[in-house]
Amino acid sequence: MNTRTISPVGRFAPSPTGPLHIGSIVAAVASYLAAKHVRDGRWLLRIDDLDQPRVVPGASDIILHQLDALGLHHDGPVIHQSCRHNRYQEVLHRLQSTGATFPCSCSRKEILASAPHLGEEGPIYPGTCLLTTPISSRPLAHRVRTTDQRISFRDQVQGDVEQDISSDVGDFVLQRNDGIFAYQLATVVDDHDSGVNQVVRGQDLILSTPRQIYLMNLLNWPVPDYAHIPLVLTPEGEKVSKRHQHAFSFDAISPERVLIAVLHFLGFAPPAQLATSTVQTILQWGCEHFSFTALPKNSLEMTSTL
Ligand code: GLU
Repeated sequence: MNTRTISPVGRFAPSPTGPLHIGSIVAAVASYLAAKHVRDGRWLLRIDDLDQPRVVPGASDIILHQLDALGLHHDGPVIHQSCRHNRYQEVLHRLQSTGATFPCSCSRKEILASAPHLGEEGPIYPGTCLLTTPISSRPLAHRVRTTDQRISFRDQVQGDVEQDISSDVGDFVLQRNDGIFAYQLATVVDDHDSGVNQVVRGQDLILSTPRQIYLMNLLNWPVPDYAHIPLVLTPEGEKVSKRHQHAFSFDAISPERVLIAVLHFLGFAPPAQLATSTVQTILQWGCEHFSFTALPKNSLEMTSTL
C-alpha cells in the first residue's frame, strides 16, 4: 500500500472473552493512532465472536463501554463475526471450487501421532486425507493445501518476516469439524470486505500473518500493511491476559491515566501537563506525535504506574 496516497483504514478486533485488559487496550490505542494520525484515516471495530463457546455473555458491551470511555470512537458500524457465517461459507466454496482445499476427518490425536515434525504453532498436518479418503462417518474439517513457498512481508515494527508456509505451518484449517470457521479465514474475509489496508495488532499474532497473506493471494485480494506491536508483560515475564486482570474498571483508574501509561509504553513521551487533559486531547496529542518508528519491538513490562 502506498500510504502517501491512500488513507489508512485500520481496525481493532477484540474477542469478547472478557473485558479488555491492558494488553488489548495497548493494541486498541496503537491501531487507532496509526489510522487516525493520517488525515481521513478510518478506524473500524469488529467483534471477533466467531468462537461462540468462548464468548462471555456481556463482554462485548463492556468492551464497547471501555472503548467509549477511552475516547476511541470507531468509524462505521460494529461488525460481529457471528453474523457473517454465510459470507465465510461463500468464500470457502470459492476456494473449494478451485481445488485449494480438502476435507479432513483426522483427529488431533491422529495428527499428533503421525505429524512429520512440529511446526511453529503445533504439529504439521501429515497429509493423511490427501492420500486416503476421509472417514465419512466423522464430522469433517476443511483445510487449505499449502505449497512449498516462502511468504514474506515487511512489518512496520518488527521488520522483515518470512515463513515457509508448508514446512513451518502446513495445511491449515479453514473450517473446524464443529462447523466454526477458523480465525485465519474469517479475519481475511472481514479485513478484505471492510477495505482494511492497515492491520496493527499484538505480536502474538505475527505467526498467523503469513497464513492470512497466503489466503489473500489465493483469493487474489490485496494485502494490507502490517504492524505487530509489543505485548505487555507481567513482572514475571508472562503475557498479560484476561486471566491477570479480570475486570479492568475505570472506576479505579481513570481512562486519562490509562491513555498516558499506554503512550509511554508505546515509546512516546507525553508532556506531564497532558495528564490533566481530557481523553480527546490526549488522543489528539498521540495522533500528532504518532510514528511507527517510535514503537518498541520487544514485549515489555508496563513501567508507568496505572
Ligand atoms: N481477536 C483477536 C484477539 O483478540 C485479534 C485478531 C486480529 O487482530 O487479527 O486477539
